[in-house]
Amino acid sequence: MGQTTKTEPMAQTAKSLMAEPEHPLPPVVVYERWCKGCGICVEFCPRQVLEMGNDEHPTVVHPEQCNRCTLCEVHCPDFAIRVLRLGEKEPHHSR
Ligand code: SF4
Ligand code: SF4
Repeated sequence: MGQTTKTEPMAQTAKSLMAEPEHPLPPVVVYERWCKGCGICVEFCPRQVLEMGNDEHPTVVHPEQCNRCTLCEVHCPDFAIRVLRLGEKEPHHSR
């Protein structure tokens, strides 16, 4: 005789509510023309989403780990990195 747990459906609901909404990746866009390669965004990212690339611009290496906290965006002194809002498409002038 199997025992049913009442917490399971609730846990499922919580899990689906907390799931990352579907969004085209990457969620972060670097405007390389404005970026001076200081690395501040990489240092402030709490999820290790960004790494400095060989071209001295940040690269999105783990987009799936991004929680859209916007710390990279608000700390960039040159307005060179943006976190896309839900449903927003990558701007054409992002390079
Ligand atoms: S903080 Fe801004 S300028 Fe500095 S590396 Fe990141 S995107 Fe480039
Ligand atoms: S939004 Fe937050 S988690 Fe995503 S790349 Fe920027 S600092 Fe990292």
